[in-house]
Amino acid sequence: MKTIGLIGGMSWPSTITYYRIINEKMNERLGGAHSARIILYSVEFSEIAECQENGRWDKCAEILGDAAEKLEAAGAGMILICANTMHKVADEVRVRIHVPMIHIADATADALEKAGVRKVALLGTKYTMTQDFYTSRLAARGFDILIPEGADLEAVNDVIYGELDRGEIREESRERFSGIISGLKDRGAEAVILGCTEIGLLVKQEDSVLPVFDTAEIHAVRAAELALTGASADD
Ligand code: GLU
Repeated sequence: MKTIGLIGGMSWPSTITYYRIINEKMNERLGGAHSARIILYSVEFSEIAECQENGRWDKCAEILGDAAEKLEAAGAGMILICANTMHKVADEVRVRIHVPMIHIADATADALEKAGVRKVALLGTKYTMTQDFYTSRLAARGFDILIPEGADLEAVNDVIYGELDRGEIREESRERFSGIISGLKDRGAEAVILGCTEIGLLVKQEDSVLPVFDTAEIHAVRAAELALTGASADD
């Protein structure tokens, strides 16, 4: 079994999801008392959020690159960045290590493809929804991407940075997200990507009129599978 290296803390509530799902999946596969080998490097999130806000992606890349190097040195056989947004610097991080990195958008694209989805809604931070590092990677795989507009887009971003990143789950935000997803369905979306690793803590399948693709879950399951079968699906 390969050791999974997690760059987490972006933010901490979603890192709990990764830890739980990877272990659950491993136990499902191996039974008994089996669990996963995991090394976690959890960053200080306010430092990251500040760099994002100020457009200091170079500093984000440096922080994550250092974390990835440390995880590899400690014995990680693969690296995951436990956030969608920070995949903006995935290429800069990847060149600093020799072990595979599982790209969250690629794992998500595989799941969508398997389900036969072509036109898909994307919810995430304003960076993930409006910059092209994430959407262009999906578009290159042939997906049509729909994102919320105006106040809806702001609301999704504000709930992530004002509530979910500190573990706050509010009923009114869940209702707001459900309404936004309904609107995206009316615009033709066949499914919705929970393209921020905390959204799955708020929105479950029963809250959505569209099939949900939870990136934290998809990414974590892929890591557990590759830890057993040999991590070769590098991006
Ligand atoms: N976890 C989030 C994501 O998946 C947002 C937090 C961050 O800005 O990294 O994009």
